[in-house]
Amino acid sequence: MGYVAGLRCKECGAAYPVEPRTVCDEDFGPVEVVYDYEAMRGKVTRTSIEAGPRSLWRYRDLLPIEGEPRVGFHSGFTPLIKADKLAAELGVKAVYIKDDSTNYPTYSYKDRVVAVALTKAMEFGYDTVGCASTGNLAHSVAAHAARAGLKAVVLVPYDLEEGKIVGSQVFGPRMVKIRGNYDDVNRLCSQIADKYGWAIVNVNLRPYYTEGAKTHGFEIAEQLGWRLPAHTVVPVAGGTILPKIWKAYQEFITLGLVEDTHPKIYGAQAAGCSPVSTAIQQGQDLFTPQKPCTIAKSIAIGNPADGFYVMKVVRESGGWAEMADDEEILDAVRLLARTEGIFTEPAGGTTLACAIKLIESGRIPRDEPVCVCITGNGLKTIEVMQGRCGQADVIDAKMEQFDDLMAAAV
Ligand SMILES: *Cc1c(COP(=O)(O)O)cnc(C)c1O
Ligand SMILES: [Zn+2]
Repeated sequence: MGYVAGLRCKECGAAYPVEPRTVCDEDFGPVEVVYDYEAMRGKVTRTSIEAGPRSLWRYRDLLPIEGEPRVGFHSGFTPLIKADKLAAELGVKAVYIKDDSTNYPTYSYKDRVVAVALTKAMEFGYDTVGCASTGNLAHSVAAHAARAGLKAVVLVPYDLEEGKIVGSQVFGPRMVKIRGNYDDVNRLCSQIADKYGWAIVNVNLRPYYTEGAKTHGFEIAEQLGWRLPAHTVVPVAGGTILPKIWKAYQEFITLGLVEDTHPKIYGAQAAGCSPVSTAIQQGQDLFTPQKPCTIAKSIAIGNPADGFYVMKVVRESGGWAEMADDEEILDAVRLLARTEGIFTEPAGGTTLACAIKLIESGRIPRDEPVCVCITGNGLKTIEVMQGRCGQADVIDAKMEQFDDLMAAAV
């Protein structure tokens, strides 16, 4: 059972059956899963969703699987935090943090897309899965594959943070470091998918994988009490999650689960890798690829596969895009930690730093609620914060020394 109607090219509309596929044969446009929303009417309701599991699979009717979920039983359904201290500090009425730094099992938004992709890979009968990754996707593919009993091959740029390497290797995948940047890794992965007949989640399973990102948006709407935030600020790497949050909001509107309050979507990129934000700010139709140079490595993709659709959604929704430099990113990481007790990686710092700029420039009015999408966990990239969070005092285990310390601190 299920409501999937098939695949459709986003450019020419050509229809394809449910099969492993990356692009359209006619024009190489990306293909997307389409659903029969009419058939869902009256069946997919607030009540039916609320009765589902406390994981991303509560939205399974809007996900492209045929049978039962096979992995990711605890992924998704992360907290939506009303960040009052942060809001006060920023001088705005309401800030919400959608906190995927707590996602299970690998602490980033990628556990959503991988849960869907690996379930689909098993439905298609693959025994080996893989990915090109800036780090987090590799963690998630390796962990979910271990749990599901699939073989995993993960390819990453050679210069990733050590935490990003160990965080994959511990799960026992075949890990290959590529001398090159993410775009080089991705190009090689496309060739591997064809030649070796593996399920590369971000290549030949891409249409299914990307659908998992919708669940981040579904959760925001449900957790807000079946309402849409006026403004949603989303990080942009390959450009998957931003258009999918929009698609999630639109699907809930179509199904009558939320009112259409014309939500605006904003893109956030690091200044050292900002092809999409630059194009939006300069009013260009197409973005120019860049060579990444930023501490926000998990979003350092210079030639985003879905960058074009990010621009389209941002414009259609009436949003905007921003970029933040490395110092602003680190400041935002510390701000979120200090005000809300959430430690995010530089990608999350980028998103918050861009949200702040959008507020300060007046693009996001101070009296309207804004949702900031925090997509990764800071404990994976502690190197970037080392020496930037103050110093600890060192004393012997003696009361006088502690007393001296306290006396000096006043
Ligand atoms: C992958 C990733 C993103 C966004 O990537 P998209 O390809 O644009 O969906 C954002 N933040 C973190 C931490 C990520 O790992
Ligand atoms: Zn096409």
